Amino acid sequence: MMILPGSTIGVLGGGQLGLMFVSAARTMGYKTVVLDSDKNSPAGLIADQHICAGYEDPAGLKKMAELCDAVTTEFENVPAASLRILAETTFVSPSAESVEIAQNRGREKNYARQAGLETTPFETILSVEDIEKAVATTGFPSILKLSSLGYDGKGQAIVNSVEEVKKKFEEFGSVECVLEKMLDLKQEVSVILGRNADGDVSVFPVSENVHVNGILHTSTVPANVSDEVTGRAQEQAMALANTMDYTGILTVEFFVTADNKLVFNEMAPRPHNSGHYTLDATVTSQFEQQVRCLCGLPAGNGQLTSPVVMVNLLGDLWPVDWKKIYAEQSLKLHLYGKEEARPGRKMGHYNVLAETPVQAKEIAEKIFKEIS
Ligand code: ADP
Ligand code: MG
Repeated sequence: MMILPGSTIGVLGGGQLGLMFVSAARTMGYKTVVLDSDKNSPAGLIADQHICAGYEDPAGLKKMAELCDAVTTEFENVPAASLRILAETTFVSPSAESVEIAQNRGREKNYARQAGLETTPFETILSVEDIEKAVATTGFPSILKLSSLGYDGKGQAIVNSVEEVKKKFEEFGSVECVLEKMLDLKQEVSVILGRNADGDVSVFPVSENVHVNGILHTSTVPANVSDEVTGRAQEQAMALANTMDYTGILTVEFFVTADNKLVFNEMAPRPHNSGHYTLDATVTSQFEQQVRCLCGLPAGNGQLTSPVVMVNLLGDLWPVDWKKIYAEQSLKLHLYGKEEARPGRKMGHYNVLAETPVQAKEIAEKIFKEIS
């Protein structure tokens, strides 16, 4: 079944990912609906309709299902129960089952292992009694992470002794966590793919990601890894999507170790910050691909059209001297329309296109220094 232009498609969540989805959907000929409890949400402001309600609000979900021919999500922590309610009467992608896997660090790692991917040595911790056994698996240093609801490095602590694990576990509220071995990372890369309900897959190029204070700072494409590593990362991401019978956009984050081993870190059941370069440097963007997958259209061409570096703009940089940004002609600025700039808040990003990734990085960093 193909959902064609003129139809209405919806997204749960009105943040920047929702905004870029809505923008792509409108351009592609669809009417759009956003469900978000914030009346000033970036996506809500440009959608045809904004249902101002929480993710669990029965009336809001009912209205969403009535209005939409298909619904997707920009937010991975939307309750699976809400996706199930929507799926009773409308097409939902990704499925509640897929989203549930990605919501839990232990579950997603186990799925990755099932698909033949390597993960960091880890154990799930449900209570203090589990700590000794977990430490036996991971050793030190290791990282304690909340199993769910962590993001941008939040809900994580590096730990070096059993005592420290106990202390942090309690500080985290004694809720489910994973303890994982801390690896010596050479690089971090991610792969984004789109897969529609017929199993038609398109993989985007591999992006090399640099994080600062746990938040993505830059993505560089092509990544500075061998063709062999690139191919392996893309194949592994596809294997995972196939194992999950995944529909929609799937992001897979990998660690690259000193001996070029790929280690699965985590997945996201949605477009990803590390894929924002696709807005300007691939034939189809990750948001257009999200629309295509949701609507049962053939996956679009994800091929790279130019080397590119994406730089995140966090609220810390505000106020920004926009003249410095727009002085650079090979730079494409994307702002999310958020009114309040707070430290660590993602306000926008820019992509710099150049003949080589090294040149793009030089320009991108020069501009970043000028506005810092
Ligand atoms: P988030 O959900 O916040 O993105 P991640 O699990 O991806 O959480 O961790 C954030 C960052 O912390 C990673 O991108 C990586 O830089 C670092 N990190 C996380 N786990 C490990 C690990 N096991 N070994 C080394 N570095 C890690
Ligand atoms: Mg991450």
